[in-house]
Amino acid sequence: MADVQTLNTHSTTFEIFAGLENTDHEQIVFCQDNATGLKAIIAVHNTVLGPGLGGTRMWMYAHEKDAIRDAMRLSRGMTYKASVAGLNLGGAKAVIIGDPRTQKSEPLMRKFGRFVENLSGKYITAEDVGTTTRDMEYVKMETDHVVGLPEIMGGGGDPSPVTAYGTYMGIKASANAAWGNDSLNGKSIAVMGIGKVGMHLVEYLHKEGAQIYVSDINDSALKEAANNFNAIPVSGEDMVDLNVDIFAPCALGGILNSDTIERLKCQIIAGAANNQLEDELVHGNLLRSKGIYYAPDFVINAGGLINVYSEYTGYIREKAFAQTENIYNTILNIYKTSADENINTQMAAIAVAEKRIQDMMRVHSTY
Ligand code: NAD
Repeated sequence: MADVQTLNTHSTTFEIFAGLENTDHEQIVFCQDNATGLKAIIAVHNTVLGPGLGGTRMWMYAHEKDAIRDAMRLSRGMTYKASVAGLNLGGAKAVIIGDPRTQKSEPLMRKFGRFVENLSGKYITAEDVGTTTRDMEYVKMETDHVVGLPEIMGGGGDPSPVTAYGTYMGIKASANAAWGNDSLNGKSIAVMGIGKVGMHLVEYLHKEGAQIYVSDINDSALKEAANNFNAIPVSGEDMVDLNVDIFAPCALGGILNSDTIERLKCQIIAGAANNQLEDELVHGNLLRSKGIYYAPDFVINAGGLINVYSEYTGYIREKAFAQTENIYNTILNIYKTSADENINTQMAAIAVAEKRIQDMMRVHSTY
């Protein structure tokens, strides 16, 4: 048994509660197991609407405080995403500190599963960057509080087609808001990143008669999009300068910054990538001042979350798609709130999310 005296609690760097004073997280759990090498943090942000759901990220964080910060930032994002999507879910997220290529093992994932089990359903986990459905199969051996499992295990399988469908609905709603008509026939659309989500999206857009431009660092994906959906490949750098109606970022985050926003010529930005705005306030406001309709990423890409939520309540694929279709109305409502409140659409989406949480707190205030 290790001696607690060896903990350097007098060091000025051991100030966890001081660092948490200005946050509104409900619970932060530190999971440590020497035998498996597990070092994980589970951040439960808000469970007013339901249990906190969020994936488990495995990453080589340079400092432990970066891991804590990431878990807290991402769990807050999950609270908003679930709330706007109208789900009875709260927000949470877990991070495992380590290299997913070399430090992952069955015992480590199963030990992590036991920590999830100890939270008795307050936290539901899923795969995320650095973890796979195979890892979740190990977690499932220790707890039922896990989603994102393969279809063969009763799960919903790959959520990307559902995410793509929600993104397509969000693009159509944005067209409706901008032009009073949601037809994409003849509209020019630049899709950046044609991976699991982007390629399905291109298929929907092609079926509707859009003129599609695509960029990706993967040449075979570009060939596939050109052959199957008549898409025109463009180099990544040129994508932002294209004279198109709609820009759909479906690759990495941070693509909307002071440089790219000045160069973009589109009227709508609506794509699946997470964390598109480099700075929510500064760049959200810049888009608004340029009159660009920006569909907030965490609203338009909620199809994946809706898919795993249906897994939690008993998976029916058609139900997941039907619920995802509602992203159309949600995006319209965000544009309306943005106009009514004179705030950018990202802030409008956060306001809508927070209002639903406040409303439900009042609903639950009596027996
Ligand atoms: P993916 O890894 O399958 O696809 C990403 C694609 O972007 C890849 O084809 C990659 O080659 C390409 N790419 C990388 N850098 C690029 C660059 N500089 N320019 C152009 N293309 C580039 O990922 P995905 O599952 O399709 O997810 C896409 C985005 O949507 C991510 O930001 C992800 O976080 C977000 N998202 C995905 C889901 C889902 O269900 N898969 C749900 C919500 C959000």
